[in-house]
Amino acid sequence: MARVYNFSAGPSMLPEDVLKTAAEEMMEYGATGQSVMEMSHRSKEYQAIFDEAEANLREIMNIPDNYKVLFLQGGASTQFAMIPLNLMNKNKKADFIITGQWANKAYKEAGRYGEARAVASSADKTYSYIPKTTAADFDPDADFVHICMNNTIYGTKYNELPDTGDVPLIADISSCILSEPIDVKKFGVLYAGAQKNVAPAGVTIVIIREDLIGNAMDITPTMLNYATHAENGSMFNTPPCYTIYIAGLTFKWIKKMGGLEAIKAMNVKKAKILYDFLDNSKLFKGTVVPEDRSLMNVPFVTGNDELDAKFVAESKKAGFVNLKGHRSVGGMRASIYNAMPIEGVEKLVEFMKKFEEENA
Ligand SMILES: *Cc1c(COP(=O)(O)O)cnc(C)c1O
Repeated sequence: MARVYNFSAGPSMLPEDVLKTAAEEMMEYGATGQSVMEMSHRSKEYQAIFDEAEANLREIMNIPDNYKVLFLQGGASTQFAMIPLNLMNKNKKADFIITGQWANKAYKEAGRYGEARAVASSADKTYSYIPKTTAADFDPDADFVHICMNNTIYGTKYNELPDTGDVPLIADISSCILSEPIDVKKFGVLYAGAQKNVAPAGVTIVIIREDLIGNAMDITPTMLNYATHAENGSMFNTPPCYTIYIAGLTFKWIKKMGGLEAIKAMNVKKAKILYDFLDNSKLFKGTVVPEDRSLMNVPFVTGNDELDAKFVAESKKAGFVNLKGHRSVGGMRASIYNAMPIEGVEKLVEFMKKFEEENA
């Protein structure tokens, strides 16, 4: 068996520990005589898997008791509609910071249900930085302010949260969930699709302050109402059972690794290897301003499209896959989520050095 180093932005690598446990338990989970895939979501065996997953996530992320954790379907993209349907309900206004395609999609979707306002944008420089805002930029009557915490496509992240005063801050954390500690109480809602840092695609984690549940617009479909899922322990209908089980294994792995402080230290170390190389390379350069660089997604270019294509092709042959940049930006992007081992980044940098020498 030869596993590659997979730098995909998502779905992406999972920890080998998680895959091995899932393989061992594939035919029979515990003494149940069945795979988790085959279990009734109403069985006590499955409920135990579910409860343990939620408890571990609460522990790892230090989620306060007045927040509900929901395991939903529909991907992060469905949240772009659920958030306005459920929260744009007082003054029917919300503020958005446009830091890339995902942030923009959230903004556009909210505009279908109320008055969505783009407060700031970094579109002028291909989203290569996080725009600065002050409290005065936000409408105190807005029902919420939405940000995308880590911009998967462009490789930027918030290191300092915008000051939104009393207006609830909502963040898409799809590509940075569990990559470092986050102060949950500073947010009204946090949400993430699983397929970047948690599990295979299929489950969306929503962490929502309880007082924000229960005020959905009348037109809200039952399945898109947070109250439906909060009142039914995320089992109003069949949840994505197997994906939640894998998420649970990832949470256990994070605990075993020492929790989010330890994971952060590892991620900082990994990202530094790559950024230090890019900063000193004569061929490759990073595309993001240093102060807003992501720990998870590292875009870079040679400045020559042909050379970029050659690099992508040769790196693939050498066992480093999915390094092509997003179709909207070109160049390269190395996504180095939690499960990417440090050797993967070290070996990639070695390969880049060699490529640089050969193509100088
Ligand atoms: C991948 C991604 C999405 C889209 O997630 P889906 O689960 O495919 O809907 C949204 N936001 C961010 C930040 C992402 O990285």
